[in-house]
Amino acid sequence: MQLIEFTSKGLYCSHGDFYIDPWKPVNKAVITHAHSDHAKAGSNSYLCHHFTKPLLQARLGESDYQSVEWNDPLYVNGVKISLHPAGHIIGSSQIRIEYDNEVWVVSGDYKTENDELSGSFEPVPCNVFITESTFGLPIYNWQSQSVIYEDVRNWIIENQKAGKTSVLIAYSLGKAQRILKAIEPLKEKVYVHGAIWNMHQALISAGVDLPVVERITPETSKETLKRSIVIVPPGADGSPWMKRMEPYAVGVCSGWMQVRGNVRRRNADGGFVLSDHADWQGLLSAVKATGAEKVFVTHGFQSAFSRYLNENGIVSAEVKTEYGNDDEEPVSDKGIVEDLPQKEDENISR
Ligand SMILES: [Zn+2]
Ligand SMILES: [Zn+2]
Repeated sequence: MQLIEFTSKGLYCSHGDFYIDPWKPVNKAVITHAHSDHAKAGSNSYLCHHFTKPLLQARLGESDYQSVEWNDPLYVNGVKISLHPAGHIIGSSQIRIEYDNEVWVVSGDYKTENDELSGSFEPVPCNVFITESTFGLPIYNWQSQSVIYEDVRNWIIENQKAGKTSVLIAYSLGKAQRILKAIEPLKEKVYVHGAIWNMHQALISAGVDLPVVERITPETSKETLKRSIVIVPPGADGSPWMKRMEPYAVGVCSGWMQVRGNVRRRNADGGFVLSDHADWQGLLSAVKATGAEKVFVTHGFQSAFSRYLNENGIVSAEVKTEYGNDDEEPVSDKGIVEDLPQKEDENISR
């Protein structure tokens, strides 16, 4: 029997009798990170990183939450479990499982570049590695974060000169916090939508150090927002709520902006290729660093990525999961989903 089995409820470790990121309610869930496709409500108990706990409480409501620090192992029915930084969003963790001298690692979502918010991705040696593949095609290769951050700042400065408000579209958990860091050097007041405000408060109460922001309320006047910087979630884009910002320019921050045409199709004035996921090289380097003899590939371009690994001497197989509707993963973002490049193998469903 495999140490982790792929079941209809999610990744299951029968020796420890727990699931990792189950998509159905279970008794014991170990959670990689607080994005909605990896952290579902309704389970009896949750184990996660300290920073993930307040996010789960805010998103899933009250339950039995146990949190741990990275690299601080615990035992469940004789199975050794430890969490290791995944660098994807605040609190995001890879899950390492050891039993009977065999080690499996579940990546969750990850990013190999250090964003100084989410912890530095840690390669964890293992026998079997289960990796995501959101951007698992060679066309996805990111510029360094510092270059993109500068682009964002320059764009804002240009908008200010033109008398426009800069509206940055960002998911409330992950991208929004990175944009705040990107624009911090401008030393300008930043206004945020309520959804981003809620995550901001949860993170601050968990002890995460974030820049000060101002919440937009019905009382916020049109005058105060003039030429300001505003961060809003994708759902608000194009809604009547945005009227108060006029005249404004829209900037979209997403890995999907790498594909020419997405900026135009999204009606964005600025497209910034800023991703919370590893690019092609990042995925490859992460896989190699584990030294794994077998690699399972989940949500994303799993067919292409797993085929590439097999052709290059790393035994690999695809796994069908229900992940793939969090921040940048295209399922939830209706605006982006139709603009996705064609997958190499269309008959693999998520
Ligand atoms: Zn995620
Ligand atoms: Zn994911």
